[in-house]
Amino acid sequence: MQLGVIGLGTMGANLARNAARNGATVAVYNRTKEKMEEFMKTHGKEGRFIPCTTLTDILKAIKPPRAILIMVKAGESVDEVIHDLLSLQPNDILIDGGNSHYKDTERRQRELTKKGIHFLGMGVSGGERGALLGPSLMPGGSKEAYDHLEPLLQKMAAPLDYARDDTQQHQKCVTYIGPGGSGHFVKTVHNGIEYGLMQLIAEAYHLLRDIGKKSNAESAKIFAEWNTDPHLSSYLLEITGKILRKRDLETKQNLIDNIKDIASQKGTGKWVVEAALRYGVAIPTIGAALDARIISNQKELRVRRSHEIPFTANIRKGEDLTEDLRIALLLATICTYAQGFDLLERASAEERWNLRLTEIARIWRGGCIIRSVLLKTFQDIFAGKNDEKIRLGAAFSETAQKRWRAVVAVGAQHGIPLPTFGASLSYFDALRTAHLPANLTAAQRDFFGAHGYERIDTPGIFHTKWE
Ligand code: NAP
Repeated sequence: MQLGVIGLGTMGANLARNAARNGATVAVYNRTKEKMEEFMKTHGKEGRFIPCTTLTDILKAIKPPRAILIMVKAGESVDEVIHDLLSLQPNDILIDGGNSHYKDTERRQRELTKKGIHFLGMGVSGGERGALLGPSLMPGGSKEAYDHLEPLLQKMAAPLDYARDDTQQHQKCVTYIGPGGSGHFVKTVHNGIEYGLMQLIAEAYHLLRDIGKKSNAESAKIFAEWNTDPHLSSYLLEITGKILRKRDLETKQNLIDNIKDIASQKGTGKWVVEAALRYGVAIPTIGAALDARIISNQKELRVRRSHEIPFTANIRKGEDLTEDLRIALLLATICTYAQGFDLLERASAEERWNLRLTEIARIWRGGCIIRSVLLKTFQDIFAGKNDEKIRLGAAFSETAQKRWRAVVAVGAQHGIPLPTFGASLSYFDALRTAHLPANLTAAQRDFFGAHGYERIDTPGIFHTKWE
């Protein structure tokens, strides 16, 4: 198998090495020539690489039908590269493995299909290490192109981690996602779930630190223990324990205490919220996680306000919240995944992608950032295993709910923001409330805008002259 890779940044270089390690001959190109030369110097002997200094070279280096993976910055850069690949021919395959917007992917696909060129928009998750050792791959678009590339992608993708049953351990984290921009859409939703789960863990750390008065080492131990929990175990918990233990080489203190409380966010976080609005799906935990990052950037304001508007709570020193937090984290994590899958399901219906949620849950069980033991439960539920559904439902027992509510209450009482724990709980409560106050909202809309309302006793839309 031959593959061209354009863009030898963090991800492109590691995916090129991954492909070469798995037997492919890989033609490599980078806009800045020195990066390609450095790549060849450092990794050139790891496999069969063909160095290319122009885009024309890369097209000449491999045989038709050519498969070329573009791993450049998302946005206009992708269009520029496609535009400059002048001598592409019918049946050639282009794969965009960056975090592109799914609507851009669909536009590019339409344009390339006219020329007989196959286009795959492929979500790639796993970061630098995953790209090299096995990412989770979410390819969507041309099925013909996927079928051609499947043997290589199967080799490159991660095996299933968090495989509770040995029967699936041989499977790999790649599947054909669906037509159009569905591969990039699934990656966007993956990233949205990632935002939610990361923020939940950050809030748990905040409570352990400020209410539980736990040292970093103690919190690290708690996260490591939770990571052995048969329901909670996840990659993000695993790395959290490691992060809290890490020493700063300079100061010899815990590195975490020397990191500013500012988290940035890139395209996919915003896109997932936009998509939820577009398809009319509630994803409050994910939205709250995005807001939390935006507010984290208002550092100056936060510091000023902390002096202007002090709040001294009756801190219950050393209160052990750990068990309540473990339960709250589990339930809110379930809500976060559920929101992501709900968005996938709704978008799939509207776009006619025919997404297989069972397969998506499966390929997220390894390689990617949101991999966790819970995804096996979701996979089983989507496969129609009712006992798993009942088991998941049983996690929301009254006792468990009380613990979750206690966590959110402690945050409120002590003035500690818990945007994702709170949003998840309200989401859960709203979906279990038979009689919401939306009757009043509907009446208000009709009062000032004559938008109409439905009655409980008669079908149809009604309008009242309220004054
Ligand atoms: P990176 O390390 O910043 O590398 C960016 C690459 O894009 C460089 O090779 C750069 O070439 C090239 N590039 C930028 N503009 C270009 C243009 N106009 N024409 C040609 N080449 C251009 O980025 P990365 O982390 O590998 O990410 C690549 C893609 O993967 C992005 O879409 C990113 O969102 C996505 N992604 C990243 C991760 C991650 O963990 N980093 C995970 C999943 C997906 P020069 O060297 O010439 O600047």
